Formats: sequence, structure tokens, C-alpha cells
Amino acid sequence: MSASRPGYRQPITSLQNDRVKAIRALELRKERRETGLFVAEGAAILVSARARGRLPETLVAGPGADDQPVARQLIADTLAAGGDVLDASPAVLEKLAAKDNPQTLLGVFQQQFAAPPVPAETSAGQTWLLLEEIRDPGNLGTIIRTADATDVAGIILAGTCCDPHSREAVRATMGSIFAVPLVRLETAAALALVAAWPGDRIATHLDGAEDFRAGIWHGPALVVMGSEGPGLTDALAAACNRRVRIPMRAGIDSLNLAIATALMLYQVQGNRLGS
Ligand code: SAM
Repeated sequence: MSASRPGYRQPITSLQNDRVKAIRALELRKERRETGLFVAEGAAILVSARARGRLPETLVAGPGADDQPVARQLIADTLAAGGDVLDASPAVLEKLAAKDNPQTLLGVFQQQFAAPPVPAETSAGQTWLLLEEIRDPGNLGTIIRTADATDVAGIILAGTCCDPHSREAVRATMGSIFAVPLVRLETAAALALVAAWPGDRIATHLDGAEDFRAGIWHGPALVVMGSEGPGLTDALAAACNRRVRIPMRAGIDSLNLAIATALMLYQVQGNRLGS
């Protein structure tokens, strides 16, 4: 977004318009990586972004947006901050919006990633979450939303992970994508971070000897979760000093990753959250 010039407003009716094509292209991970942009859809997520101090570079508004107070304010705020507003015809909107549950407001935002936490500078009251090789964008979005709700300091995406800025992940965050610091680390750097962590490194593992409900944690806590398919690698599990299991009825293989993460974060953070 350019703060040096006021945003402009432009009607768009052609599916061949370059900006329509550029926004559509953001469905591809390669394009998101190259441009550093992503799309967030729907008034609720856009309002949530604004509450976190983030406005879109480009706002796409469907027909009748000016008749809705929330959309009207988002349009005014975007223009005032130097963003552009594209008034999309029904055909253009249909092209840009999700096929399931289409929305009439879409924002194009800059991606943001945070620097890794410096172990010596983390405070005892903090909890960080590390996800190893997470693959499912719906799980990742749900976890980001839960991390926001439980006041987690940030999420470390270790190794080859799915894209937190994909349409599916962003939608599942319900706006928390704008709130929770996300850090990307290669596997070796993640291992080094875990090794240097000053508090408990808690591997959440099917072979855990400790019951996750019994834990007294030595902060700052680092909750470490494995991938949906293979689970935690031996190297990361070995780098942790605690290994906890969430009990299950006999015969159940494992819990969904997002559910297991939510149980862990409420266990570790629960007492710090208000009622
Ligand atoms: N087959 C995988 C395995 O052997 O770990 C299952 C992976 S599970 C779907 C994804 C992640 O969720 C696991 O790596 C672990 O971090 C966490 N998880 C799921 N169920 C769990 C349980 N009952 N106890 C501890 N962690 C669990």
C-alpha cells in the first residue's frame, strides 16, 4: 500500500482486466510466494484485520457495497490508507470469490512473517507453538485461530509446511492470520532453536510417558506438534525434554492435529486466560 498517494476507486467489468487476473493468480502458491501477497475474503475477516491495524492494498467490493455500513467504512478506510478499491461487476466477483460460500468483499494483503524468537529473550510467561511439517491448510488455519484465542506468543512452522496464506487456511483463521506471529524455519534451524530453548520443550507424542493433564510446565513453554501423517520426527522428539500423550480409548489411532493442539494449548495456557 502506498501511503504517499491516496487510493483510487475503479469499476471493473472485464474478466480480462490485468488486476482481476493478478488477484486470481494468487490462488497459486507460487504466485503468492513471488508477490508476497494473499487474499482474505469476507467482511468479518476484513473487519478483524482492520482491528489488528491491517488494511488491504486492494479491496474488491461487489455490487451494493456502498449500501452496507460495514463495507462502506472498509472502503473509506482502505482509500484513506492509500489502498485501491475495485468495484467488481457480478461476473468479476464470481470469478474472484470462492466457489463455496462466496463473499462480496475481498482484500489483497501483504504477507507478514516474524523473526524467530531469541531463546534468551523469551519470558517465562510465554508459550510458543512449533508445528513440524504441517500439511493440511484447514488444520493450520484452525490452529492459528486457537493460538490466538489462547494468547500464544507465536507459531514456528518447521520444515516443509503448507501455506498459511492459502485461501483455505486464511478462511479457517477467521482473522487470526493478522494477529499471530508466524515464523518459518528450516528443519536444522528449528532443531537448533529447540535445543537452545530455556524452558520446557513439550513433545506431544503418541509414545508420551506423561499424561498431558498432569504437567507442571517450566516456562517459557514450547509446545511441539507432529505432522498429520507420520507424526513427530525422532530428531525433534529427542530434542524435547518432555513427552506427553493425550489419553484415548483403546483402538483409536490418534487425534486430529488441530484438536490435539487445542487440547495442549488449553492445558498449558488455560490458567492464564480469563473466564
Ligand atoms: N501416525 C501419527 C503418529 O504416529 O504420530 C499420527 C499423527 S497425529 C494425526 C498428528 C500429531 O498430533 C502428532 O504428531 C501429535 O503431535 C499429535 N497427537 C495426536 N493425537 C495425539 C495423542 N493422543 N497424544 C499425543 N499427541 C497426539
